[in-house]
Amino acid sequence: MSPGSDHLRLVLATRNPHKLDEIAAILDGLDVELVSVAEFPGVPDVEEDGETFEENAIKKARVVSRETGLPALADDTGLEVHALGGAPGVFSARYSGEPPDYDRNNDKLLRELEGAAESERGAQFRCVIALAMPDGRVETVEGKTTGRILQSRRGEGGFGYDPLFLPDGSDRTYAEMSADEKNACSHRGKAVRAARRLVEGLPD
Ligand code: IMP
Repeated sequence: MSPGSDHLRLVLATRNPHKLDEIAAILDGLDVELVSVAEFPGVPDVEEDGETFEENAIKKARVVSRETGLPALADDTGLEVHALGGAPGVFSARYSGEPPDYDRNNDKLLRELEGAAESERGAQFRCVIALAMPDGRVETVEGKTTGRILQSRRGEGGFGYDPLFLPDGSDRTYAEMSADEKNACSHRGKAVRAARRLVEGLPD
């Protein structure tokens, strides 16, 4: 964006304040005003019923952009465990049923991998971010971090599957890292940094 231009308004298609803060921190310094979809009460909740992260992210970004008339960013994220054929994948939030529960999800993951050797515990987190324009154009970027699922939880920080996920090349789980350390190596950090480059390319 050119200096001194009217800044661009960009809607983040999430009502989750944790995600909003994380994305805002990485987009800091851009001449962009970030607005949460929560500020547009007329926009319907979008059902995440796609078979892939891409489908879900694109669907959310398109609906929010069309309804608000502004460019919109949406993400979909999950954990894929190789020995489980990519599960929990798009079902990561509700892996152990409703209502979503991180602790119960981790218990189920440990049960499913019971008896699996270290070499069979490979996994990856993937985060896909879609940027949609009101005219229907859409682009996606992805961040991926590979690692493995431990035999038991380690660490108190983070959320979700963090205590069980040991990124490759690290001796600490996501849950043992500070927010900045996790951001530097995480799937979401990588995806949001790639999304920043997309946003930088937007016209005023
Ligand atoms: P969402 O699409 O970002 O809402 O993520 C779906 C689910 O994936 C969450 O409910 C978590 O269970 C899991 N998840 C996503 N990102 C992370 C992460 O950074 N650490 C641990 N679990 C995550």
